Amino acid sequence: MSLQLAKRLMTEPDKRLLWKFAWNFGWKGMRAVNAFEKRRAKGVYFPAFLFLSVTNACNLRCQGCWVTPTQPPCELDLATLENIIRSSKAQGSYFFGILGGEPLLHKGLFDLMGRHPDCYFLLFTNGTLITDVVAARLHELGNVSPLISLEGLEAVSDERRGGRAVYQRTLEGVAHCRDHRLMTGVATSVCQSNFRELVSERFLRDLIGRGVLYVWYYIYRPVGAQPCPELKLTPDQIVELRRFMVEMRTRLPIIIVDAYWDDEGRALCPAATGIGHHISPSGYVEPCPPLQLAGEHVGDGTDLYERLTNSAFLREFRHAAAETTRGCVIMERPDVLLQLAEKTGARDSSGRGTVKAEMGCLSPCSSHHLPGREIREASWPYRFAKKHWFFGFGAYG
Ligand code: SF4
Repeated sequence: MSLQLAKRLMTEPDKRLLWKFAWNFGWKGMRAVNAFEKRRAKGVYFPAFLFLSVTNACNLRCQGCWVTPTQPPCELDLATLENIIRSSKAQGSYFFGILGGEPLLHKGLFDLMGRHPDCYFLLFTNGTLITDVVAARLHELGNVSPLISLEGLEAVSDERRGGRAVYQRTLEGVAHCRDHRLMTGVATSVCQSNFRELVSERFLRDLIGRGVLYVWYYIYRPVGAQPCPELKLTPDQIVELRRFMVEMRTRLPIIIVDAYWDDEGRALCPAATGIGHHISPSGYVEPCPPLQLAGEHVGDGTDLYERLTNSAFLREFRHAAAETTRGCVIMERPDVLLQLAEKTGARDSSGRGTVKAEMGCLSPCSSHHLPGREIREASWPYRFAKKHWFFGFGAYG
């Protein structure tokens, strides 16, 4: 299977884009993790990967989305983004996940990416705004991979995305990416209504046929103003998802990404390890995108390194999360997060002003930490990669 995947990688994307991916993301990503490890050994936490929600504007209204659009939209301005990127590069971190809202609504984003050809940007997008012109621009930039969210097949997807023909418009975006030979990925948030459609070999084979090179599976988190708890997965479904990914990694020529399990199948939380954190559209530093609590803000001109490494909230979060569970503390123990907010004085960074009340209403549920049900990676390249670059980073003792 590795050979077929290698053949796809060598023949489908543009060679220049593949090289950018391999060098800026692969090689520099490894070095960023090594630099993170060295800092961590000294008790200094600056993430290897940063996730930036550049705007809260969006052209869709999806079920369970935690981002609340405002009028006018709230955006990270270009000066702030420059400051973040330069500070990160100074620490050896060259990878940025770009989220929204819909990040393609942020004017100036492409120019920013073009000013940093030594970085790699993963563009989390609903894909509906990827026209032929946009795909051509992404090709020209070379250092961006569109990660397009698909939330099910047509009927379920349109219901989840809150609009008609969203599925078709998304697939048109995927087609434009293929036409321009981009490093294209698909992200899916697996929930009750789309589980059978998305956790299936047929779905992955369809993506392969559309020129998609990697797929990133998420587990639906019932958070936000309208959390839809009825959509959350059962523990058996989470194990089934894990088993499916492990098996498909050995069989299908598509890269399958998850940010939940290490090489031995033990759960971990990237935010608890400190490997990645998130900056909201309003400039608040959050542990991760769905956790809208913050102690710090980036907009006052203070160097990002100082902000992050001296953040009492992030430090306390990492300890509390790792002591509570190897899984997702939001899902398993929202009460711990409320206590933490109380203790550290962390503020609601959602713009809604209701996050603490929302958390108080969340019913604890299972996440990906299911002791005794671990499933080891069966594919050696994944086992190798996770063993060296995606593990607990000492967070769990
Ligand atoms: S707290 Fe939950 S959603 Fe956030 S990084 Fe950890 S596992 Fe993921």
